[in-house]
Amino acid sequence: MTKKQFQAESKRLLEMMINSIYSQKEIFLRELISNSSDAIDKIYYRALTDDTLKFDKDSYYIKVEADKDSRTLKLSDSGIGMTKDELENNLGTIAKSGSLAFKKENEIKDGHDIIGQFGVGFYSAFMVADVVTVITKALDSEAAYKWESEGADGYTIEEVEKDTIGTEIILKIKENTEDETYDEYLEEYRLKSIIKKYSDFIRYPIKMDVTSQRPKDGSENEFEEYQEEQTINSMVPLWRKNKNELTDEDYENFYQEKHYGFDKPLKHIHISVDGAIRYNAILFIPENMPFDYYTKEFEKGLELYSSGVLIMNKCADLLPDYFSFVKGMVDSEDLSLNISREILQHDRQLKLIAKNIKNKIKGQLQSLLKDEREKYEKFFETFGRQLKYGVYSDFGQYKEDLQDLLMFYSSKEKKLVTLAEYIERMPDDQKYIYYASGETHERIEKLPQTEMVLDKGYEILYFTDEIDEFAIKMLLSYKEKEFKSVSSGDLGIDDENEKQAESEENESKELFDYMKEVLSGKVKNVKASKRLKSHPVCISTEGDVSIEMEKVLKAMPNNQNIQADKVLEININHDVFQSLKAAFDQDKDKLTLYTNLLYNQALLIEGLPIQDPVDFTNDICKVMV
Ligand code: ADP
Ligand code: MG
Repeated sequence: MTKKQFQAESKRLLEMMINSIYSQKEIFLRELISNSSDAIDKIYYRALTDDTLKFDKDSYYIKVEADKDSRTLKLSDSGIGMTKDELENNLGTIAKSGSLAFKKENEIKDGHDIIGQFGVGFYSAFMVADVVTVITKALDSEAAYKWESEGADGYTIEEVEKDTIGTEIILKIKENTEDETYDEYLEEYRLKSIIKKYSDFIRYPIKMDVTSQRPKDGSENEFEEYQEEQTINSMVPLWRKNKNELTDEDYENFYQEKHYGFDKPLKHIHISVDGAIRYNAILFIPENMPFDYYTKEFEKGLELYSSGVLIMNKCADLLPDYFSFVKGMVDSEDLSLNISREILQHDRQLKLIAKNIKNKIKGQLQSLLKDEREKYEKFFETFGRQLKYGVYSDFGQYKEDLQDLLMFYSSKEKKLVTLAEYIERMPDDQKYIYYASGETHERIEKLPQTEMVLDKGYEILYFTDEIDEFAIKMLLSYKEKEFKSVSSGDLGIDDENEKQAESEENESKELFDYMKEVLSGKVKNVKASKRLKSHPVCISTEGDVSIEMEKVLKAMPNNQNIQADKVLEININHDVFQSLKAAFDQDKDKLTLYTNLLYNQALLIEGLPIQDPVDFTNDICKVMV
């Protein structure tokens, strides 16, 4: 028996590859199982055209056996096997894929899909094994052969006895080193979990002798271990099944089996696309927010399968950030993967799939909103903020996609409403979509600024999320109606109030100027209010920064001390205004005192801190004494 060298370049390539292209050692099992599955597929294809061959799916299997004593891991399959030539060509030449050649020769385009294409997967076995032995008997061959290699050195081939058609691959698992453990690849539990993780949807049974316990004969508390052959993989991927045959429970089980979450899915989305791009996907909108959703640890992404074999655990490119709460998987036969099958070669297909998925999710959310309102509201309460972040992010480029999905709490309905519903209800004379910001609904309800708008019978949207106003600033308008804060300088409401306020402002110009002087540096202006009905004062803002935005910006690390341009508005129909006028005529000190009091009062109503609480309380005492 002579030892043959791997072909020249192969030798270096092999060394390089074994240690560098795969990021995880455990994938060797995925590669070997995929090869076995391909080998069985090949018999299936042959049987399609060869009448003397019968393909009985049930008699094909892959078996995994570990033996700790001899440190060997054996994979057997009842696939097509390899002839001596094929052993030389396919295992002796790296980057030569017998499977790719088979696909070409047989002009196989779709249907059952053969996984192999690069001709390197097999060598990943050397990441965990010192010696790899292949014993194989091909469908077309009388003789069986043994191929053996210790890695970069080369390989030997000799004839051996083997009764059945198929292949056995025996790995002599490496000894543990200081930094690497290999023992785990002989552990039943570990092997099972690797198979489950990567090869759960291989179409043929992957069997293992699994150790279980049972009570000893005639004994109640003594147990004995016994071995039983079990099929580890679930074989038929849920996503290839017909939607009509699946129940909600099937999807819920899948969600749990896949550990997508501890909760139940609120909604599942089953997609099968067969056109310019082909893929299957099962997506879920979770019922609850993952506990780490707003932490650095949270990673968005979908599981990515290529022809039923797991390629990536969390493919982030498949989901936009604003749908990052979606869980699930995508399987496609059309992906061109790089050699380690860990990275996608071209992201064109992936981009197409991602776009398609985004539209499907959006469509499903829209129909949830239309047909299952309660569920949608629950969804929105949980993940709505993410959609609002989406409107705001990347200079508002996704706002068209998302605006119909937004909801806000309404003063009229006392529940969440959509912008479309708001517009629908608007009276003819209403020009703007009004909103009010505050920490809670209760606080907003009491805001003096809302008086006038409510008095006109207009609906107000309550903004209690920090992101709300920022998102709306990005949105600007909805169906050509602009958004307007009830605290903004001009409310756009023509009213008696307006004219009265203007004339009073002219009449009492000196009074307002004096108050402005008292509050210089604190407010931009003091003026007669057009929006107050019963409250004495309020603060409104000019310009782009609102009070709520000022609060958010202040709370940010290294804030730029951005301030809203505040205006103190006085209700000229309130008795307080008469007191101000009297003080202006008789006692300027009193007017200063009143002005400060009213200003601080307005700050408190807005939920803003007052600069000097001691001064404020002293001022109140002065009024009382
Ligand atoms: P690929 O699977 O990408 O073709 P591999 O390095 O994994 O590359 O395998 C190389 C080739 O060896 C395969 O294409 C196939 O022809 C052959 N081969 C590997 N394992 C088996 C097996 N269990 N049964 C039959 N042929 C096999
Ligand atoms: Mg392979």
